[in-house]
Amino acid sequence: MMSKIKDIYNSTKDKKNCLINKYLDYNNNKLTMPLIFAGLFYAIAICLAIFTKHIFYLFNFMYIGTALGIGLFLNISLKKKYISWARRITQFLIGFYMLVFVGFILRENIQIEGFVLYLFSGIFTGAVLHYIIAKIIGPIIFNRGWCGWACWTAAILDLLPWRETRQDREKKLEKLPYISFSLSMLIVLLIWFIIIDRNAEYVQETVLYGLIAGNLIYYILGVILAFILKDNRAFCKYLCPIAVIMKITARFSLLKIGFYRKRCTECGLCELKCPMNIKHMEYKNKGTRILSTECILCCTCIDICPEKALNMKFRFDSHFTEGQKTSEKETSKESN
Ligand code: SF4
Ligand code: SF4
Repeated sequence: MMSKIKDIYNSTKDKKNCLINKYLDYNNNKLTMPLIFAGLFYAIAICLAIFTKHIFYLFNFMYIGTALGIGLFLNISLKKKYISWARRITQFLIGFYMLVFVGFILRENIQIEGFVLYLFSGIFTGAVLHYIIAKIIGPIIFNRGWCGWACWTAAILDLLPWRETRQDREKKLEKLPYISFSLSMLIVLLIWFIIIDRNAEYVQETVLYGLIAGNLIYYILGVILAFILKDNRAFCKYLCPIAVIMKITARFSLLKIGFYRKRCTECGLCELKCPMNIKHMEYKNKGTRILSTECILCCTCIDICPEKALNMKFRFDSHFTEGQKTSEKETSKESN
């Protein structure tokens, strides 16, 4: 009887190991980055819950930290064939939690227009906190990671079939995000000065309609632009107004993509697959990390590099426009 139970246990264990081995390439060293991020958001959750005395913030930021931790862990541990699912899981877990739960159910407009309207109204909401953490202060730590890992608009656009852009950025469209940002602000001003009855209840109602209309417009424009330019991330490059704000602090980001330069064979795969058309070789040749504020930290280049010549690390770049040279320590690691 005992040996039978042992056999069943062993065969179940084998099946489980087999299933894990099929999808994961796991070891304990891969837990550092997921734990750092989960820990960071847990710390924010605890501080905000104590400071504001709102239990919601504890749940909200712990949920986001957990979703991010899961995605980062899977991104490092999933076998190459399944790796694209890691980021997608986090995009959906965070993006649609924000849009559906925080936006539609809790009735907060977490779009840029809503954020500015709340600021004008003097209402301190989750949306205000969201902007401060994810889009103003956050990029100093994790660059434009929001765009790569959590944005609900990009979560859908990333599913479209034009993942490889195959052409350079459209130079004539580069100013469009600034026009789109100005238009957004103009709409907010119009609502504020002409239409709105400035009591808190009315502001809440208006921002909810704004959330529905704004998202519909963003999705429609995103799909049309992706179709015309055959580029899933065309909206992020040429139209998204939020990028204008994030780029200001993203230039100071501690987390960026760096190189093990001696390993790189200049095969060009990283540039070809980068959804934001970043010119990796220009940075590699200058001896800097990728300093572009267009990098959304999607990790596609790291995952695709056949020589494992790219990494993502926290470091301080002393020159924010030129970046600092790759450190001696890192250069010595290159030959490993
Ligand atoms: S994919 Fe890797 S080896 Fe190829 S150019 Fe990019 S960094 Fe170099
Ligand atoms: S540089 Fe790498 S991490 Fe940054 S957007 Fe391009 S592929 Fe993604």
